[in-house]
Amino acid sequence: RTLQVDLGERSYPIYIGGGLLSEAGEYFERHQLAKKSPVLIVTDDNVGPLYLSKVETSLQDAGYHTVSKVVKAGEKSKSLEVFEEIMTVAIQSGLDRHSVVVALGGGVVGDLAGFVAASYMRGVKFVQMPTTILAHDSSVGGKVAVNHRLAKNMIGAFHQPEMVLYDVDSLQTLPIRDVRSGLSEMIKHGLIWDKEFTDWCREHTEKLLALDPETLGYGLTQGCRVKAQVVSTDELEHGLRAILNLGHTIGHALEATGGYGQFLHGEAISIGMAAAARIAVNRGRDRSLYSDTKELLEGFGLPTTLPVEMNEDDIIAAMMHDKKFKENQIIFVLPVVIGEVEIVSDVTLTDVRRVIRELKEEG
Ligand code: NAD
Ligand code: ZN
Repeated sequence: RTLQVDLGERSYPIYIGGGLLSEAGEYFERHQLAKKSPVLIVTDDNVGPLYLSKVETSLQDAGYHTVSKVVKAGEKSKSLEVFEEIMTVAIQSGLDRHSVVVALGGGVVGDLAGFVAASYMRGVKFVQMPTTILAHDSSVGGKVAVNHRLAKNMIGAFHQPEMVLYDVDSLQTLPIRDVRSGLSEMIKHGLIWDKEFTDWCREHTEKLLALDPETLGYGLTQGCRVKAQVVSTDELEHGLRAILNLGHTIGHALEATGGYGQFLHGEAISIGMAAAARIAVNRGRDRSLYSDTKELLEGFGLPTTLPVEMNEDDIIAAMMHDKKFKENQIIFVLPVVIGEVEIVSDVTLTDVRRVIRELKEEG
């Protein structure tokens, strides 16, 4: 399957299928990526042992010179320190303006390596090789970043890849918690844009969780398609693109509050999506909006309530550092019905405190 992300000169294809990592060399040649300059592959210490040699072998067989940097797995690697370590490798290995940086891994490696690609010599080419379900979201759209201790994704850039090479075979080794976390973003793509796709996700809960290749391939393609459509309309997030942030206002705050360790990204935004639905209901939408959303997420084993011990003030403080907080207003994406959202700026801190308490009581 091939999908095109339409962004004028920066358009690029997403290839989705089995066995693609072993064909990396051919895809590089097809895209006429330079052979004289070293290719830097960034991966983490879970993905590296499983898939790095496949990619290296394929690229080397095609005549590419590769160097690789393996970072520690986990959100904590999305930091300026690790960013600098990779830069050191890039400089020492003689990467030049024609070099390609490859992100082989999930969203963490994608965001981190992407920010390296955006910054090294003011920008070199970038190829995404996603190995998580969640990365159907993170590998599309060109947002790359590292975290600051105080706030998620605070230091970053827009940098579109040359291509996305999505080898769905690699997903078979994903831990179940990461499977659920990734499906959370897939569900989000349904909730913001497509009632039918949301229903499909609900009907295929078991098959998706069991990583059935056919079902997963379809779900990922649909998820990427929604993301690509939204991003094509609004690459730099002047308007529409903000709908992708459903669940992220509270979600990002939960990730930062937990010290980037307590919740996986998809878990945090699952709670965030439940919270958004609850706020919408508190503001007058139909009650079923909240109960349907909650039931859907819980069907996937995702969290929708808040641990009682989580400090309300900490969550609020983290939210106020977020990019979505401007001029004393919080930008919220709220569901209208399943498959449709609205962007509002009149949700108050009182509303947020109320929903935090409600989600704690539900827990
Ligand atoms: P991740 O990259 O940490 O991967 C999750 C875990 O799975 C890690 O431990 C990783 O080592 C392991 N793993 C990855 N692939 C594997 C495989 N095939 N087999 C076995 N283990 C594997 O996290 P993620 O959930 O993919 O991504 C989350 C990140 O993505 C967050 O930092 C989030 O902010 C970011 N994100 C970015 C965007 C964007 O538009 N740039 C969008 C959504 C999320
Ligand atoms: Zn997200």
